[in-house]
Amino acid sequence: MSKAHRGTGVRELVNNGRAVCPICKRAEIKCLYEVEQDGAKLMICKQCNAKLKK
Ligand SMILES: [Zn+2]
Repeated sequence: MSKAHRGTGVRELVNNGRAVCPICKRAEIKCLYEVEQDGAKLMICKQCNAKLKK
């Protein structure tokens, strides 16, 4: 299985996985981590994912 958050798998995503993170609001960063918030799926960045997992 390929690594989901780096390398080729990322390059296949739309815009190379880059988007505006809905939590930290930074633009053009890689939002690769899917979380559910209020029943909606969000794609968030690595840093916010780490914070949420704590
Ligand atoms: Zn973020």
